[in-house]
Amino acid sequence: MTFVIGLTGGIASGKTTVANLFNEHFDIDIVDADVVAREVVEMGTPGLAAIVDKFGQQILDEQGSLNRSALREVIFSSPEDKEWLNGLLHPMIRQLMIKQLEDTSSPYALLVVPLMVENSLQSLVNRLLVVDVEKETQIERTMARDDVSRSQVESILSSQASRQDRLACADDVIKNNTENEKLLPQITELHKKYLAMSSENL
Ligand code: ATP
Repeated sequence: MTFVIGLTGGIASGKTTVANLFNEHFDIDIVDADVVAREVVEMGTPGLAAIVDKFGQQILDEQGSLNRSALREVIFSSPEDKEWLNGLLHPMIRQLMIKQLEDTSSPYALLVVPLMVENSLQSLVNRLLVVDVEKETQIERTMARDDVSRSQVESILSSQASRQDRLACADDVIKNNTENEKLLPQITELHKKYLAMSSENL
């Protein structure tokens, strides 16, 4: 069984930055829920076929791929359709994440899930690592990266778990309020700890 570290955090907390450092410096394999969520609706998948069955061909773009903005519009205006879509995709995403974790070969693997706490996915992981930042830092970094307004970021933040709720579930915490250089020492310490834990887990 792969020893799995769940990596989560709110918007622009630094999940991708942290996961990339584990990968670049220590060759740790990463499974990313956002990537998996796109893979289950790629062309030719049962996921995409079910969506077309339900909403018709107009949900596709000219190439026959899923038209995400059309799908977003449908589910934005219909809570029932949103529920239907989540009921379809969540089990598929879960299954594919489990398969990709089984296929990893590093001593432990990272499972990056933005909404781990919100979607109660902690059962998939041995430990939960939370990337923690001040709310103000999240707002500034999101505005700079995505070119969105403060109120747009605040509305996204209010739809996510609170900092306290996330920290309450954490086994380990990386503080990312600082400059990038302070990240690697924290990651190196955690890597040593996870290596020791994963060898005990064998
Ligand atoms: P999301 O879930 O919103 O995609 P994320 O949690 O994966 O975001 P990143 O994309 O890693 O977060 O980081 C968000 C932004 O903040 C990026 O533009 C990144 O370059 C920047 N950033 C991350 N960590 C730091 C840091 N320590 N110092 C300065 N900028 C940082």
